[in-house]
Amino acid sequence: MIVILKPQAPEQKVQQLIRDFEAQDLKIHFSQGESSTILGLVGDVAHVDMEQVLANEVVADVRRISEPYKAANRRFHPQDTVVEVCGRKIGAGYFAVIAGPCSVESQPQMETVAASVKASGAAFLRGGAFKPRTSPYSFQGLEAEGLHLLSAAKKATGLPIVTEIMSEDQLDDFTDVDIIQVGARNMQNFRLLKALGHCDKPVLLKRGLANTIEELLMSAEYILAGGNERVILCERGIRTFETCIRNNLDISAVPVLKRQTHLPVIIDPSHAAGNTWMIEPLSRAAIAAGADGLMIEVHNNPKEALCDGAQSLDMQQFADLMQDLKRRVAFEGRELQG
Ligand code: PEP
Ligand code: MN
Repeated sequence: MIVILKPQAPEQKVQQLIRDFEAQDLKIHFSQGESSTILGLVGDVAHVDMEQVLANEVVADVRRISEPYKAANRRFHPQDTVVEVCGRKIGAGYFAVIAGPCSVESQPQMETVAASVKASGAAFLRGGAFKPRTSPYSFQGLEAEGLHLLSAAKKATGLPIVTEIMSEDQLDDFTDVDIIQVGARNMQNFRLLKALGHCDKPVLLKRGLANTIEELLMSAEYILAGGNERVILCERGIRTFETCIRNNLDISAVPVLKRQTHLPVIIDPSHAAGNTWMIEPLSRAAIAAGADGLMIEVHNNPKEALCDGAQSLDMQQFADLMQDLKRRVAFEGRELQG
């Protein structure tokens, strides 16, 4: 971190600022130029509050020269993290597909979809029991009953389950859930992230609708800093000026994240596309870009779905897609889980 001092800053106040940094175990590299004086802070600057430094009367500007996330940073953890759940691996060449309906709607629905996506090669079953909907009048999910139906489908098929949590108060009800999903709208729910940092379950962290890659990594950092090392990142499309698609899939987030972090990265083409016809090309793009997995919405009867029917593949479409994806995953030298 670099701190640029104001010209003619009183010496006494500069010395006090230096002492404050030294008290935080930082070493100071002092550089007196012709027009400006710069302090280079050497050490663990993750805890330095940039805004507080900027508020100091002798400081003109503050700049970070390294990333503010540490535990998520590939620089300090060069090998890819492999998240292992119920014998299935994600990351470092292991590729997993998570499939299932947007929301859990009924017992026959879950039974049918779970058996079908398993037969097609999915490694995990998804389904929302608690749905974050834009309108309070839309279907909000079956809640506790939804969790129960997910557990029943897991028992019947052996597929581990992935479902979204909305609040840390729900953690006790998620004991049978195998991967806890944090949805886009909760990516910066810091109380929730902190609570997940202390739990022993893997977390699938989705990127917020209007969040930067650095913000996604800082949210992952909350979970990692609490001691939970099993975090999977998910790019699911971001808001842009474009209106002809639901969200813009930021495919470049995959190589950027792969460079910046050791955590596995998966793509959700369903919430990016908002339609079914784009799922296949976006899935192919995800594999080619280096993603470690996909999360795809599949419904037994998309026309009747209570949520996100327009983007949900029917079971046959998913089976056909998996045939194609299996070849592509193998071609890229990755190992499909399931
Ligand atoms: C979901 O996966 O059903 C969901 C609500 O996704 P997102 O948080 O990405 O909108
Ligand atoms: Mn959905």
